[in-house]
Amino acid sequence: MAVPQHVDYIIIGAGIHGLSSAWHLAQRLTDRGEKVEGRIVILDKAGIAAGATGIACGVVRNNYFQPAMRRLMAHSVSVWESDPEAFSYHPVGYMQISCEAMHGDIAQIYEEQQAIGYESTFIEGAKDSEKYMKGLFDDWQAQGITSVLHEKRGGFANNTTAMYGVAKKAEDLGVRIITGIEVTGFVRESGSESVKAVETNQGNISCQHVIVAPGPWARDFWNMLELPNQVSIKGADGQMHTDVDMWRFWQLEEGVLQVDPSMLMTNDGKLPPVLHVDTDAPLLSDEDGSLITEDLWGIYYKPDWHFNGIQGGAAPYKVDTPVNEVQIDPYGPSSPEFVSSTEFAHMWVSALAHCHKRFHGMMDKYHPEASGGIGCFTPDSFPVFDHFYNNVSVIADSNHGYKMLGVGQLIADEVLGEKQELLEPFRFGRYAKGELHPTSNSPFPWS
Ligand SMILES: Cc1cc2nc3c(=O)[nH]c(=O)nc-3n(C[C@H](O)[C@H](O)[C@H](O)COP(=O)(O)OP(=O)(O)OC[C@H]3O[C@@H](n4cnc5c(N)ncnc54)[C@H](O)[C@@H]3O)c2cc1C
Repeated sequence: MAVPQHVDYIIIGAGIHGLSSAWHLAQRLTDRGEKVEGRIVILDKAGIAAGATGIACGVVRNNYFQPAMRRLMAHSVSVWESDPEAFSYHPVGYMQISCEAMHGDIAQIYEEQQAIGYESTFIEGAKDSEKYMKGLFDDWQAQGITSVLHEKRGGFANNTTAMYGVAKKAEDLGVRIITGIEVTGFVRESGSESVKAVETNQGNISCQHVIVAPGPWARDFWNMLELPNQVSIKGADGQMHTDVDMWRFWQLEEGVLQVDPSMLMTNDGKLPPVLHVDTDAPLLSDEDGSLITEDLWGIYYKPDWHFNGIQGGAAPYKVDTPVNEVQIDPYGPSSPEFVSSTEFAHMWVSALAHCHKRFHGMMDKYHPEASGGIGCFTPDSFPVFDHFYNNVSVIADSNHGYKMLGVGQLIADEVLGEKQELLEPFRFGRYAKGELHPTSNSPFPWS
């Protein structure tokens, strides 16, 4: 089928945000009795879930120190729960298992979860935390744990399968997904700020509105849109910090222990919640007992039949290549530069053994295949969801986004003229105004 010369809505990127935006926009138009066919296209230079979405661990949680993130996540969890089968979603819950340095932050998260009606249990104190964990896993042995937040909602979805489910919902409503087409720029209306067409390697497509959902390619689309590469940020001290880079990249470290996933069932034979452990107990090598770190460290993991083993990750590291020189393509495991390191494998498997006796002596089961990938982060590591010029909406999720299935719904509502309160704390203007999100004591840049 030929590439169209005009459509009303162009959505760039067939990752979670592009697909969800298209699905919800199509649903809204259908609900209004309008036709969809021929009006909405998704353009992707590769394919469905070819970016960060297709390599994500797929964890869906609420555990965030920032109230605005928590409210947004609660909304997205409801979208995941709306059709678990289509989204290959496993509502097993999520546990944040922490050391004393994080106790106060997590207690606050728990209180605020109660206030918004998000079901969770909070266990405090070393003894009770250990008892709770041993009640789930009789070989639990992590050290230094003084609190456990057990979120009863959330869980994980199988990354690509879930996206085929979202794509089907969009296509069933008349959305067309065109893959293998690369967006190269935007054509502005003369005498107005609006974008009148999207330039591609297969010709220009004129449109009324563009939604850009670029994941790690946020830097490149920001440049194409001629938005500022550097920003001024008003700090908590009231001081203006000028010339701060708008983007930075972090390498997400993830991998798989190739064992039977059912090795990590609970004592009563059930699928466990997704487990996230942060502790400052010394981490020793499970291979030779040498010290890996005495600093705060963290891991997350789950049994996963899609990855065929125990899948998870650890804290990411900052990419120190100058931001404009970072080679995003080829992306993910195909990257010659940005894949999980051997240090990660050693640390992560040792950390699994630190937590559960059952993982002792399993270093050789680590799957040596390339994994992980980079994420493109904003100055405060939280998303920018905003509208620019007269007709361009940008979903720059700062790598929080697999869990954010509901953001596409909120953006679709805004494209149709209904401002969404849940998105307000994520506008670009927050940097200049100093309306920043609170920061936590977590070792992860995304909590
Ligand atoms: C290893 C890893 C693990 C993660 N785990 C989790 C997790 O467990 N939970 C969680 O919530 N988040 C997780 N994330 C973050 C999450 O995956 C991303 O935030 C989210 O998938 C981004 O979705 P997106 O739709 O914005 O972008 P993407 O999924 O990256 O989609 C962008 C699309 O744009 C296309 N594209 C790029 N340039 C062009 C162009 N010029 N023209 C046309 N198309 C173009 C790409 O081909 C791609 O398909 C993880 C990220 C990584 C890297």
